[in-house]
Amino acid sequence: MNCIFCDIIERKAPAEIIFEDDKVLAFLDIKPIHYGHILVVPKKHYSDLLEIPGDALCSIIKTAKMVTGALVKSLKPDGYNLFSNNGKAAGQSVFHFHMHITPRYFKDEIHFKLKLKDYKNTEMQNIASLIKNEISNYI
Ligand SMILES: [Zn+2]
Repeated sequence: MNCIFCDIIERKAPAEIIFEDDKVLAFLDIKPIHYGHILVVPKKHYSDLLEIPGDALCSIIKTAKMVTGALVKSLKPDGYNLFSNNGKAAGQSVFHFHMHITPRYFKDEIHFKLKLKDYKNTEMQNIASLIKNEISNYI
């Protein structure tokens, strides 16, 4: 399997590493949305959110919070985004689960283009019902 994040974890590929422990690695994104854009990855390979076990995900989130604190203190952004792309349609390009943390500034000219939708008639209840019917499979 060819995975750039596994290569970084195994030190077969270079990266500017911010933090690591036995479960998690955090490093700078080589193509940042803004300078200081950090990726947090599990050291074990999981392709996406649905594959990663809950305890490994907790380690990712805790590390994300910690490195975000350090990012805010050191670079003093006006805000930050925390997100994860899952699936090709969502923009995932490396299929090793990861969280993005990117600093944001009031005048950074970064815009996520959204076309917000409106539910009609009973669409909202119908969609909620479809999702709720599957919840028991994920509890
Ligand atoms: Zn990997």
